Amino acid sequence: MLKKLIRSFRKPRPKATPGPKEQRLTLAEHGLQPDRFSRNAVSVALRLQDAGFQAFLVGGCVRDALLGERPKDFDVATSATPEQVRDVFRNSRIIGRRFRLVHVLFGRETIEVATFRSNHTAKDAAAGHSVTDSSGRILRDNVYGTLEDDALRRDFTINALYYDPANQIIHDFTHGLADLKQRTLRLIGDPETRYLEDPVRMLRAIRFAAKLGVELPDATAEPIYRLAHLLGDIPAARLYDELLKVFLNGSAEDSFMLLRQFGLFAPLFPHTAPELDADPDYSTELVRLALRNTDQRLREGKTVTPAFLFAALLWPALIPLCARYQADGLAPVPAMQKAAHKLLPLQLQQVAIPKRFTLPMQEIWSLQERLPYRYGKRADVVLAHERFRAAYDFLLLREDAGEDTGQLGQWWTDYQFADEGNRRRMISELSGPVRKSRRPRKRNTRSTAKAGTPQ
Ligand code: ATP
Ligand code: MG
Repeated sequence: MLKKLIRSFRKPRPKATPGPKEQRLTLAEHGLQPDRFSRNAVSVALRLQDAGFQAFLVGGCVRDALLGERPKDFDVATSATPEQVRDVFRNSRIIGRRFRLVHVLFGRETIEVATFRSNHTAKDAAAGHSVTDSSGRILRDNVYGTLEDDALRRDFTINALYYDPANQIIHDFTHGLADLKQRTLRLIGDPETRYLEDPVRMLRAIRFAAKLGVELPDATAEPIYRLAHLLGDIPAARLYDELLKVFLNGSAEDSFMLLRQFGLFAPLFPHTAPELDADPDYSTELVRLALRNTDQRLREGKTVTPAFLFAALLWPALIPLCARYQADGLAPVPAMQKAAHKLLPLQLQQVAIPKRFTLPMQEIWSLQERLPYRYGKRADVVLAHERFRAAYDFLLLREDAGEDTGQLGQWWTDYQFADEGNRRRMISELSGPVRKSRRPRKRNTRSTAKAGTPQ
């Protein structure tokens, strides 16, 4: 306690008077009750304040709480450097290089603590704290600044609200609260410059538009059409992280439609995008339905796996390759495996899907070619496969998108629920050309794989 007190004399106290641009909104003005926030996040901010630093809850958690939603994670912004934060919390570790942060760990909850950052100057770049490339893109971002600097370097005004749990005041430098009330998504500063600095902000704009139902005014929307291609140069690991947020936040279907509308889908999935244009009835429908199911499952509190999601997103690109290898004489399963080996490395250059998901994706795809072969023990072997459930769901997805599989989905539904006797009967009744052509009802022939000899 004494140590804390001495420290608090040495550290700068929060500014007493607001700066010229700053609005300080009281509880009566913003109406945000403190119980909307995680107790751990509040305690991190208060302990940093006790240690003499400024500390606020910031970003998505303040925005979502103001919208009446339960925030899913909590960020704290502070005047303390990462090392100083580390000194305050034993249960913490410093992470990141491009953007150094501290994670404070409370069992299953992690509170992310970031030091106030500033927008860059040429001097900072010369000193090596921040690095930008010739197009203005920020490559490293560790220039510390004041609370106001930190607000101005954030992406959108609605993401730059700072909540002080000690007095329930929100600090607003960019009219973020007014924008939030009007449900409009405005960049802080000149939109084109801000997108050039970090093209991922375009993806974030789409995510917020879909998830929060906020409007994209012209100033926010218009540059995206011109600058969308810049997403192609972003490191693949970062795009994977951001894409997961796009597709796993409950509004994946809307996000997908917006990504396509704004030309952001093609730089992310360069091999799928042309197939969606060529064959919208089937391919676009399949991706849409996969994303709609994902949204639905999340609403019902069920788990979703990125493997299934990416398996669907790449399926339209996989099918023509698979058809080509079959036309060259390969059997369906090896053709599918070869197609996956061709496509995945190309896609991974854009979006770094981890191996723990690319392996199940390949199993889901291969099983699509094994599901029609059911004679003898084959059906039971497939049924016992670790990935059967996902593969079966994927088969139903293909059918829902309009593909004619000869009612294979129904057969597998019945088989799963049949007793042993009925299963044997179902197998023995398989005769003749059980599996129809893979040609979907509405698809063009270009992307149709040749059927193998089924059963
Ligand atoms: P979500 O609720 O989906 O997590 P979020 O706004 O919290 O949304 P995060 O990625 O967690 O998104 O980022 C936290 C905050 O960091 C944002 O609210 C924003 O203020 C800032 N931020 C994140 N990414 C950027 C960026 N690319 N450029 C500028 N500021 C950013
Ligand atoms: Mg967040």
